[in-house]
Amino acid sequence: MNIPENMINRGRRSDIPTWPDGKRIAVLIAFDIDADTMWYTHADHFNGSISDLSRGVYGPKQGVPRILDMLDRQKIKATFFVPGVVAEMYPDIVKEVALRGHEIGYHGYLHEESTKTTYEEENATMLKAEKIILDLTGQRLRGHRGPGGVFHDYSLRLFVEHGYIHSSNFRDADGPFIHRENGKRIPVVELPKDSVFDDTAYDFYTETPPERYELKSPREMYEIWKDEFDALSSEGRMMNFVLHPQFFGRASRVRMLSDLIDYMRENGAWFATNAECAEYVLKQNGML
Ligand SMILES: [Zn+2]
Repeated sequence: MNIPENMINRGRRSDIPTWPDGKRIAVLIAFDIDADTMWYTHADHFNGSISDLSRGVYGPKQGVPRILDMLDRQKIKATFFVPGVVAEMYPDIVKEVALRGHEIGYHGYLHEESTKTTYEEENATMLKAEKIILDLTGQRLRGHRGPGGVFHDYSLRLFVEHGYIHSSNFRDADGPFIHRENGKRIPVVELPKDSVFDDTAYDFYTETPPERYELKSPREMYEIWKDEFDALSSEGRMMNFVLHPQFFGRASRVRMLSDLIDYMRENGAWFATNAECAEYVLKQNGML
């Protein structure tokens, strides 16, 4: 087995001492607009069912507009990780995400999940996706969340070359840490995520074999995330969400997130985009 030693962060728990304005915890509300790409690339067993494909379309068509309205009401800026082809297929909604002041992050062109991709291929995919988003929204991508959690041993090098300052791919810490290459710190902040903050742990369902219908109610999800918030905020850490509008964009779940935002705001949350959080960490460490 090939373990990428240089990427594993053994020992350093966090590179952030305090949050701004005496806040107790950083809360990063982040979405992955995979749309129907997820169904083409994710499941080798995918049989092209209209049930799953049209649910993919539900994300940008119904879920994202509802989420954007809720975020406006809450005055919160979020990060949306968007594959390049989703920007091509749904230009109006991706443009709207940017117009409302949210950050767009890199999430592949076709939601590529291959671990065999070469440096040259990945570089070309990044350039392609970056140009599409830039032309459509005027935004330069500043951070990376690998489709399907795929991360390559050359990824950090590419992040630096492309000017990315954040990555949310690792799960080995409760707070941000600054990546290193060859023992030296580089200006890329890891903003760790985990399945516990990924809605698909609770609301992913499919009629494509193997079927799955283990839905948790919005109230159950609220309780799980509130417990995480209470415990992590008592230690001054962070939460980075992974929310998929095709599942999470349902009315009851978006309303639940709004209720949770109310609770978190009343209890010391610092809400930030992934880029804002990464900038803060870099500044705190004298790297920006
Ligand atoms: Zn994805």
